[in-house]
Amino acid sequence: MTRIIDGKAAAGRLRDKVVREVQDLVAAGGPVPGLAVVLVGRHPASLAYVGTKTKMAEAAGMAGRLIELPDTTGTEEVLATVAALNEDQGVHGILVQLPLPDRIDAARVLGAIDPAKDVDGFHPLNVGRLFSASGRIPSDLLLPCTPKGCMILLEEALGDLGGRHAVVVGRSNIVGKPLAALLLAANCTVTIAHSRSRDLSGLCRGAEILVAAVGRPELVRGDWIGHGATVLDVGINRVAGEDGKSKLVGDVAFAEAQGRAGAITPVPGGVGPMTVACLLDNTLIAARARHRRQG
Ligand code: NDP
Repeated sequence: MTRIIDGKAAAGRLRDKVVREVQDLVAAGGPVPGLAVVLVGRHPASLAYVGTKTKMAEAAGMAGRLIELPDTTGTEEVLATVAALNEDQGVHGILVQLPLPDRIDAARVLGAIDPAKDVDGFHPLNVGRLFSASGRIPSDLLLPCTPKGCMILLEEALGDLGGRHAVVVGRSNIVGKPLAALLLAANCTVTIAHSRSRDLSGLCRGAEILVAAVGRPELVRGDWIGHGATVLDVGINRVAGEDGKSKLVGDVAFAEAQGRAGAITPVPGGVGPMTVACLLDNTLIAARARHRRQG
């Protein structure tokens, strides 16, 4: 029997925890955590994501602010927006929605965010702190949201991850690489696979923990999954359904995984909801840290 890992329920529990802790922070004289989301252009998926992020922030008792910049905005204007948000005392978390239009220097923009407000965890300083952490990850470190959500799901499903062999398919800066660093910090033996890896199916089959973060619909077939493995499917792919309507599928052939995987996240309803919940948790961590610094 394959167990379905309910990411929606886990995200609900994390959001409830955030709501309680925001109330505690405010009751202790702390600030209402403020999350600013910057969107450049009107990419339809991004529009939906930023709307969810600011709405969920408000539902958690935070101040959510959406800054929409026109598609014609250049790097310098985005940098000016980030600089103003860095100075804004009401803003504790800044997220610049990716992908940015090609003409914008994304690395410069991400590097300009105050690392203490970097709730996406993409600033080089926070990335460096993650990769140089030995043993436990500091609790105030702002971790990339999707990998952080994956770790919560894995630890809830398996308890201590130490000694397990984890295979992460995908090496992006957003998911694959930071997740591999987190798994390593949790004492897993980690293999990172990518488009040049040889014998991908064989690598996957050897995994006790298999994470697919590729962006290719159902790339990972049922017989790539070792019996009893725990599978996290990060992929979100829109494909045409049999009824002609589009539907979302992951990077794992979900139906084929039944009976092989010990546990698996569905798409939708698996890793996705955890990403937004972790963003709220990061915003709370950033607000609490500043409150502590200001004494
Ligand atoms: P990227 O496109 O940045 O990276 C994809 C990775 O997959 C690359 O490392 C690439 O290898 C590898 N890859 C591509 N094709 C193959 C292949 N045939 N075999 C093996 N490896 C392959 O994607 P992201 O990491 O940003 O996102 C991955 C997926 O996760 C997407 O579907 C995205 O929508 C989803 N996502 C979901 C989130 C959520 O909240 N659930 C959040 C973020 C992303 P190489 O480096 O060699 O090119």
